[in-house]
Amino acid sequence: MTARILDGTAVARTLLEQTAERAAAFTTRTGRAPLLATVLVGDDPASQTYVKMKRSRCAKVGIESRAVELPASTTTEELVETISALSADPLVDGILLQHPVPGHIDERAAFEAIAPGKDVDGVTMHSFAAMAFGEPGFHSCTPGGILRLLDAYGIELEGRHAVVVGRSPILGKPVGMLLLARNATVTYCHSRTADLASVVGTADIVVAAVGKPELVRGAWLKPGAVVVDAGYNPGNVGDVEYVAASERAGFITPVPGGVGPMTIALLLAQTVDAAEAAEKALLPA
Ligand code: NAP
Repeated sequence: MTARILDGTAVARTLLEQTAERAAAFTTRTGRAPLLATVLVGDDPASQTYVKMKRSRCAKVGIESRAVELPASTTTEELVETISALSADPLVDGILLQHPVPGHIDERAAFEAIAPGKDVDGVTMHSFAAMAFGEPGFHSCTPGGILRLLDAYGIELEGRHAVVVGRSPILGKPVGMLLLARNATVTYCHSRTADLASVVGTADIVVAAVGKPELVRGAWLKPGAVVVDAGYNPGNVGDVEYVAASERAGFITPVPGGVGPMTIALLLAQTVDAAEAAEKALLPA
């Protein structure tokens, strides 16, 4: 079997086109473009590249971005103050705090300074709880992007066994919750899971979210499984052994060009969602 590619670049393109149309309509109605504030602390080159890429995508779809750059010596209090000011600014629709922040900063405290209505990256406890409770709210972008990608290919989730490898608060845990909300039967695996290979072998859907190159081996997979590789390791290598996995899987995401483009597309779509919601809140009842 040769797996069908889950083409995140193509699906993201469609989402970006729809987002651009909504951003243009918002700009016409309100006289200003939706605005995403990006907050970068320190000078980590990878983080700088990610922020630059996100801002350039914003420009392409008609979303304005405001770059806030802080030195690596910034304290938790200073960062919380900066983010709280953005949360209170009526011209800011969405806030993205680029992760990771320097180690001396309490990252959770900084995330929690993002107003829930502007948490377009889905990183606050409020957004996490909304995902867990099945209430409206912003999705964590990578998990939300993964669900949109699966939906774009009509992949059935209900009743199927999904194994999520990884349990981080921004990726593994929320993707499992979104799959559960769609009536998949979800198993989480992590660094202390005994016999990862056997658990993965029972999966109809595998989501790899670890950050270890090719940890998930092709030979572990149930033939025909749907494989989503959220991992991104140096050298464009995912968390799944791609060549062997694509011989056994039914569907597979490439790295790059799978999950990554969906993550950014969802961030921008949710920024327009936030702008539209703020606009609605200002309208007379
Ligand atoms: P993280 O916070 O480091 O979490 C890694 C998870 O993997 C942890 O839950 C850890 O378990 C688990 N793990 C580590 N070694 C394992 C092993 N040998 N077997 C099973 N599980 C193991 O990472 P993250 O932020 O979730 O990111 C994961 C990957 O996704 C990275 O490659 C990252 O670059 C990528 N990513 C991609 C996007 C995108 O847009 N495409 C976005 C975010 C992240 P414990 O909890 O037990 O430690």
